Amino acid sequence: MPDEMDTRPTVAVIGGGAAGMMAAYHAAQMGVRVLMLEGTGKLGRKLRITGKGRCNVTNDCDTQEFLNNVRTNPRFLYAALDRFSPADTKAFFEARGVPLKTERGRRVFPVSDKAGDIVGALADACHRAGVEVVYERARSLWLENDVLRGVCADGGNYAANAVIVCTGGKSYPLTGSDGGGYDLARQAGHTIVDPKPSLVPMTVKGDVCPLLQGLSLKNVGLKVIDTKSGKTVYEDFGEMMFTHFGITGPMVLSASSHLHDLSAGRYTARIDLKPALDEKTLDARILSDFEKYRNKDFIHALDDLLPKKLIPVIIRESGIDERCKVNTITKEQRRALLTLLKGFELPLHGFRPIDEAIVTAGGVSVKEINPKTMESKLLRGLYFAGEVIDVDAYTGGYNLQIAFSTAVLAGESAAMEVASGGSEPF
Ligand SMILES: Cc1cc2nc3c(=O)[nH]c(=O)nc-3n(C[C@H](O)[C@H](O)[C@H](O)COP(=O)(O)OP(=O)(O)OC[C@H]3O[C@@H](n4cnc5c(N)ncnc54)[C@H](O)[C@@H]3O)c2cc1C
Repeated sequence: MPDEMDTRPTVAVIGGGAAGMMAAYHAAQMGVRVLMLEGTGKLGRKLRITGKGRCNVTNDCDTQEFLNNVRTNPRFLYAALDRFSPADTKAFFEARGVPLKTERGRRVFPVSDKAGDIVGALADACHRAGVEVVYERARSLWLENDVLRGVCADGGNYAANAVIVCTGGKSYPLTGSDGGGYDLARQAGHTIVDPKPSLVPMTVKGDVCPLLQGLSLKNVGLKVIDTKSGKTVYEDFGEMMFTHFGITGPMVLSASSHLHDLSAGRYTARIDLKPALDEKTLDARILSDFEKYRNKDFIHALDDLLPKKLIPVIIRESGIDERCKVNTITKEQRRALLTLLKGFELPLHGFRPIDEAIVTAGGVSVKEINPKTMESKLLRGLYFAGEVIDVDAYTGGYNLQIAFSTAVLAGESAAMEVASGGSEPF
C-alpha cells in the first residue's frame, strides 16, 4: 500500500509487466518514491507465458543487428538501446541470480527454462528498491488545467509528479494488456496508430488445415510467395503446426509480421516437406520406396516418407488414385508428387484476431514521444515505455528488449526530472 508519510517526489508507473517493473526499479534506484499500479492483481502475467513459458528474454546481438529486426520505427530506439542494451539485460538478470543461456539465433533464455524466474527477479528488484505496488487499475490521468497531477485509479486518486504508462499492447487481453492504456494516452492528446496484430497465426482457405489439425511439422521449409509479383517475401526453416483454421508455430508467426495485407488471396505459403533432400535425391528416395511397395496400393507407398496424418491429404492433392498399384504409377505422376512434396501450397486467407497475436503493431505515435527520454512531447511529466508505443519487432527476444530499454530510459528520465523539481510538485 502507498506510504502516505513519504514526502519524496513521486513517479507513478501504470502497469506491472516487463516494462513497468523495469521502469519502476530504475526510477526507485534514483531515490524517488515509486508507485506501481497493476490492474490484474498479479505482476508480469504476460511475461510468465513468454517463449512458451521459457521466456526469450533478449537477443544477444549488437545494436545494428537489433535494429534490423525491429519492424516498426527502429530509429526511435537508438537512445534507449544505447542506455540499456541486450548485454545490460543479460547482466541485470545474471546479477540477480538468474543464469542465462544463448540458443539458436542468439536467443537468450534462463538456464532454468522458467519465465517465472525472470518475473521473480524483476519483482524482487522492485521490492528491494522500495517500489510500492498498488493492485488497482488506472482509469485516467489526473489532470488539472492541463497539468499532470497523478493517476485516477479504482481505489482513488494517486498524486505523482510524473507518470510512466507501461500498459502494453492489445493482444492476449487476459494477461491484463487489453488496450486500455491507449485511452490514457488519448487523454493527453496523443495519436494512437491503429493497433493491429503482429506475430499472429494465419487462416488458410479450403479444407486441408481442418484435415491436418493438430499436426506439427518439424524441420520443414516455408516460403511465402506474393502471387501478384511471384516474389518470395519470406523464407525460413523450422517448425509449424496446423489448426482447424490454418497454420501457426514459430515460423508462421514470424512470417505474419512480414505480410501486410492478406486480402484477395495475395499470398501463398509454400511448404517444402523435405528440405534436406534436393529434388534429385528426393526422387531417388521415392523411387526406392516405390520399389519396396511396388505391389501395394499407392496409399501405403508413403508410409516411410511422411507423417501418417499427412498421407491422405498428399495423396488427394497429388491426383493419383490411392488404390492404384504402385508399379502402375507413371513418371509424370511421380514428378507431380515430387513437386507437391517440395512445394505444398496453402493459400493464405487472413490473420487471426489481435487477441491471439504475440505482439501489437501500432500504439502511441513515436512522433509525439522524445526518443532521448521517452517523455511525451504533449504533456510534461508523462512518459511511455514498452509495447504501448508504436514499435514492434520480429521474434527472437527483441520485443522484451524493447520493453526493457524504453523502460530504463523512461524510469531514469522521469526520476531525474522529478528529483530536480522539473515537474510541478503536487
Ligand atoms: C504468448 C506470448 C509469448 C511471447 N513471447 C515472447 C518472447 O519469448 N520474447 C519476447 O521478446 N517477447 C515475447 N512476447 C512479447 C512480450 O511479452 C511483450 O512485448 C512484452 O510483455 C511487452 O511488455 P509491456 O510491459 O510493454 O507489456 P505487458 O507485459 O503486457 O504488461 C502490461 C501490464 O500493464 C497492466 N495494465 C494494463 N492496463 C492497465 C491499467 N489501466 N492499470 C493498471 N495496469 C494496467 C497489465 O495488466 C500488464 O500487467 C510474447 C507475447 C505473448 C503474448
